[in-house]
Amino acid sequence: MSLYLSRLSKIVRHQGLLQKPSVLAVSHGVRKLCRSAAMNKDGAPDPVRKKGLLERLREGPVVGDGSYVFTLERRGYVLAGPWTPEVVIDHPEAVKSLHREYLHAGADVLQASTFYSSDDKLTMPGHEAGRTITCKELNDKACTILKEVVGDADVLLCGAMSPTPSYLDGKGKQAVQQEYAKQMQAFIDHDLDFLLAEFLGHVEEAEWAIELMKTKGKPVACTLRIGPKGDCAKVPPGECAVRMADAGADVIGLNCLFDPNTSLKTMELMKTELDKRGLSPYLMMQPLGFHCPEVENEDEGYQMLPECPFALEPRQLTRFEAHAFARSAYDLGVRYIGGCCGFEPHHIRAISEELSQERGGKLGEASKKHVPWGGALKDSMLEPNRNKASRQHWEMTKPASGRPGHPDVQSKLIH
Ligand SMILES: [Zn+2]
Repeated sequence: MSLYLSRLSKIVRHQGLLQKPSVLAVSHGVRKLCRSAAMNKDGAPDPVRKKGLLERLREGPVVGDGSYVFTLERRGYVLAGPWTPEVVIDHPEAVKSLHREYLHAGADVLQASTFYSSDDKLTMPGHEAGRTITCKELNDKACTILKEVVGDADVLLCGAMSPTPSYLDGKGKQAVQQEYAKQMQAFIDHDLDFLLAEFLGHVEEAEWAIELMKTKGKPVACTLRIGPKGDCAKVPPGECAVRMADAGADVIGLNCLFDPNTSLKTMELMKTELDKRGLSPYLMMQPLGFHCPEVENEDEGYQMLPECPFALEPRQLTRFEAHAFARSAYDLGVRYIGGCCGFEPHHIRAISEELSQERGGKLGEASKKHVPWGGALKDSMLEPNRNKASRQHWEMTKPASGRPGHPDVQSKLIH
C-alpha cells in the first residue's frame, strides 16, 4: 500500500471535525480583507494589510491552487506541447474562471497563469505567439486577469516562472538570468505577493533563478520537477534541497512530474538532508494529481507514460486521496500544499478541508456544497446512494478503471 493511502486511517481523526460543522467555528467562503478603522493623514482609510506568505507559513499550512495549462487544455483553450501561454490573451475568461474556481475551493494562493511564457520558449518551433508578443506582455496580462478575479479577497498572488530553454542550450548564467528578469518584470510591476520559479529540472538553474529573485525584496519560492533519483544532472534530492536553501530561497520543494506518493518519498530525502545541515526553509509540494508509481525512477516522470498527456483520466486521484496526500505532506513538515497537473478544484477543496483545523477553521465557499465522506447522500431518493453515506464506504472503496483487461501499471514506458 502506498505511503499516503496508508494514511487514510489518520484522516478519519481529522475529518471528524468536518463532519460536525455545527460545533465548530468554521468560516466558509472567500475571506475579505478587513479594512482598518484608522484613517491616514488624508482622511482616507488606512490601506488594508494582508498577511504575507512567510507570516502565514509561520502560523500554519498554506493551500496552493491546482492545475492550469493541463486543465485549460482539457477545456479546449490551450494546445498541449507548447502549452500556449497566450491563453491569457486569447481566452482570458477561461483563465479567470479557473482562478475563481480555485478561490472558491479554498486556496490561499492563486498563481498567475504564466507557464512557459519566457521569450526564449515563445520563439521555439511549434510556438506562434513569440512572433507577435513578448513574455512581458503575456505576464502583464496574466497579472491583470488575476487581480480582476481576486478583488479584495484575502488570497496571496504568486508570480510563477518556468525553466528556460537558454539553460538547456548552455547559454550561461547571464543569459538565463536575463530570461528570468523578463519573466519577473510584470510580477514586480503588479506588486504580486511572492515569486516562484517552478518545474525546474536542474538545481543549478534553480540557484541562478533564486539569486535573481532574492534581489526583488519579496519572498522567494522554488520547486524542482524531480523524483528520488535527483535532478537532470543526477544531483541527489537532498543536495538539491541544501543548495536551494543555501541560495537563499524561503520556500523550497517539488512540483509536477511525479505522483503524491513518489513526491513524498523525494521530499523526505530532501528534508532529511536539510535537517542534517540544520537548514529549515519552508517546504512546498505541488505534485501530479495522477497515480504513476512506475515512473518513480524516470528523469521526466509521467511524460514517459504512453497515455501522457491525453489518456490519463483513469489515473486521476480521488478527493479522498487528495485528503490523504495533504495529511501526509503536513505530517512530514510540508507547509505549502497544493497541486500541479491533474489537481482540479475539487482536489484543492479536499486539501482545504483536510487542513481546515490547522488554518483556524477556514473553508472555501465550495465546502458549503460538500459534506465529508458522502454524508449528504443519506438524503438521496435512491437506496444504493443512501448506502454510500458513510466514511467506511469511501475508505474501503477501491476505484476501478472500468476497463476489463487493462493493466494496473504500464509494463512498457516510452523512452
Ligand atoms: Zn504539472
